[in-house]
Amino acid sequence: MTEQQPTTGFNTRAIHAGQAFEPRTGAVVPPLHFSSTYAQDGIGGLREGYEYGRGTNPTRDSLQEQLAALEGGRHAFSFSSGLAAEDALIRALCRPGDRIVLGNDAYGGTYRLISRVLGPWGIENQPVDMSDLEAVRAAVGTGGADSARIVWLETPSNPLMKITDIAAVAQIAHDAGAVFVVDNTFASPYLQTPLALGADVVVHSTTKYIGGHSDVVGGALVLDDDEMAGKIGFVQYAVGAVSGPMDAFLTTRGLKTLGVRMERHSDNAQQIAEWLVGRPGVESVLYPGLPDHPGHELAARQMRRFGGMVSVQFTGGESSARKVAESTELFTLAESLGGIESLMNYPSEMTHASVKGTELAVPVNLVRLSVGIEDADDLIADLDQAISRL
Ligand SMILES: *Cc1c(COP(=O)(O)O)cnc(C)c1O
Repeated sequence: MTEQQPTTGFNTRAIHAGQAFEPRTGAVVPPLHFSSTYAQDGIGGLREGYEYGRGTNPTRDSLQEQLAALEGGRHAFSFSSGLAAEDALIRALCRPGDRIVLGNDAYGGTYRLISRVLGPWGIENQPVDMSDLEAVRAAVGTGGADSARIVWLETPSNPLMKITDIAAVAQIAHDAGAVFVVDNTFASPYLQTPLALGADVVVHSTTKYIGGHSDVVGGALVLDDDEMAGKIGFVQYAVGAVSGPMDAFLTTRGLKTLGVRMERHSDNAQQIAEWLVGRPGVESVLYPGLPDHPGHELAARQMRRFGGMVSVQFTGGESSARKVAESTELFTLAESLGGIESLMNYPSEMTHASVKGTELAVPVNLVRLSVGIEDADDLIADLDQAISRL
């Protein structure tokens, strides 16, 4: 269990939660604990509760306390990847015959996990347009035996950048007795805190903005409910997909600067999105910070800023999108997102290749930008030379 410190500001919590100096030496940065096991003072005599590394580790505890303080939850669990966190959550909550309602543009790996790994174990899934609240209510049910067990939301969604009203979906999920899960990877807790808007569980791929430097893979769950936390903690311990000490340390180090990074990501993405609008060859720019984005007002209400992710569709179709994706120099063509360096992604063949041919397939004329924190002018010049080749 972890204590939140709701009275201090985000950046103060990011830097101090779980990061008390080490009492023996005064080391300002808590030491990195690699030990897999802990000496006992007599049989069962644990010091500070530490026994074995799969169960607990002080470096992982520091990260978990930091995550809980930033998402505003009482419990946080750190995993070896985002998908490991999702798998543990679903195993803790679902039994054969249970149904998960998720966005029809959910992260491809989430859909693959739910449909192809957990499907054969009896977990059902139902993709729906989460921004269409009537469709969500129809899919979730109203509390009868056939209602969904989990409602799974990503907002902004990936890569279509749809914005969904978190509080409204929380109401629908709770009316049906379902657990409401928000994957907050795209926004990060600096931009939005779903628990405060009614979510029961927040999921993260900490690989992305939370780690922030593209040098560590990890995942996390944050929640308030003690009983659910007990179940998740049991699965985490019994299965063991925990984050290792070095990964936990790197994630903590990245997380301390999340606030300043997200401000800069948002500044750069806004400039780039505005520059892209109306360029020859550009069909549409999907960025919630643009005033004519259908989710702009909602995003302005439930997010602090609009974030660093921008998707672009090209009038020239697949060949234009591929050409731009392969022509940038500062934007590196690569999977993933949320690092300080700008990345370019062609989702239908890269991040979302796993949903090709399904109803979650992504438009072939779309590229997704993870706008980094370089100088915006340089990023725009790079996009200009790539797009002018069309
Ligand atoms: C990357 C990602 C995941 C999966 O996380 P991993 O750390 O790659 O396992 C889940 N959801 C979203 C939105 C992601 O971008």
